[in-house]
Amino acid sequence: MYALVPWYYNVHTMHGEFSMPYVHFLSASITFAHMSQERTEISSLGEFGLIDHLTRNNEIRNASTLLSVGDDAAVIDSFGKQLAISTDMLVEGVHFDLMYTPLRHLGYKAVVVNLSDIYAMNAEPSQITVSLAISNRFSVEALDEIYEGIHLACERYGVDLVGGDTTTSLKGLIISITAIGELAENQFVTRAGAEINDLICVSGNLGAAYMGMLILEREKKIFQENPNVQPDFDQQQYVLERFLKPEAQRETIQFLREKSILPTAMIDISDGLSSELHHICRQSKLGALIYEEKLPIHENTRQMAETFGIPATTCALNGGEDYELLFTVNAAAFASISTCPWISIIGHTCAAEEGIKLITTANNKVAIQAQGWNPLAG
Ligand SMILES: [Mg+2]
Repeated sequence: MYALVPWYYNVHTMHGEFSMPYVHFLSASITFAHMSQERTEISSLGEFGLIDHLTRNNEIRNASTLLSVGDDAAVIDSFGKQLAISTDMLVEGVHFDLMYTPLRHLGYKAVVVNLSDIYAMNAEPSQITVSLAISNRFSVEALDEIYEGIHLACERYGVDLVGGDTTTSLKGLIISITAIGELAENQFVTRAGAEINDLICVSGNLGAAYMGMLILEREKKIFQENPNVQPDFDQQQYVLERFLKPEAQRETIQFLREKSILPTAMIDISDGLSSELHHICRQSKLGALIYEEKLPIHENTRQMAETFGIPATTCALNGGEDYELLFTVNAAAFASISTCPWISIIGHTCAAEEGIKLITTANNKVAIQAQGWNPLAG
């Protein structure tokens, strides 16, 4: 009988063909051939298309999995207590540039971007795990700095660091953080619950982090061409801080809770308002009307946008990494929401057929494209 089973299979890999011992693992019908026959570029799917593709056959086997892939965080039931869980990975050269990112800030930001996803579910973050892949170009002192930032964020947001993993990277630094948050029973907010004529709200202001990044990229180029020129960051502290040391929206979640407002849908703004608005509209099967004059843009963001020759509205719509919250509420919440000094009502939802549109200050209606940052496209 064994003679019927070949001991070695020829396996096609990305690097050619090699013989591999037969291992009865999944199924003998498994085929490796597709790797060499077809090749679909990852960039043709984009980040979200790739997630859809990889999870298309994902099966839920446990009743305790209340919400799976496709939102800011998953929600599970742990013996009657609901928890939100989210993971984010930051890769050197893709998500951060160590030429202008202080390690302490990097550690802080890596935690905050994860907590932002937990708040976006209307949960209160409680624990994180931190995994690092590091090369020997980092010293213990350098790692201490990253951890100083991590601990500072844990302290600021009342979160415990409870585990993780440390491994070797051949070149770049990779930080992967998983965050866990606690939820009041059935109070989690997905992207899919918005209803027609809900108010569309956003916390804080938009586009500042993008301006901060553009300044740092500009100064990096100048420094590379002439290392004797030191950057002058005067008057730019605000936008630089928004990029290097963002904060998660704990106060917004607390405000909504105090006012007994449960948003119908919510998402954090990591890729840009337009991209996040598309997520809510797609998952809630709605359209949206946004008013340009209502977009909250900080004065410093406007000044920098002018310096760079980019419309401030474009920065607000498409600049990423603000980590503000975008959410929808029933129109009955208008009076309560209006009392919050840092929440702006920027528009309302409508039927899907009406599309996702911006009413400009000149009173034109233009379609909003989802043009968020897509590191996989580069
Ligand atoms: Mg998110």
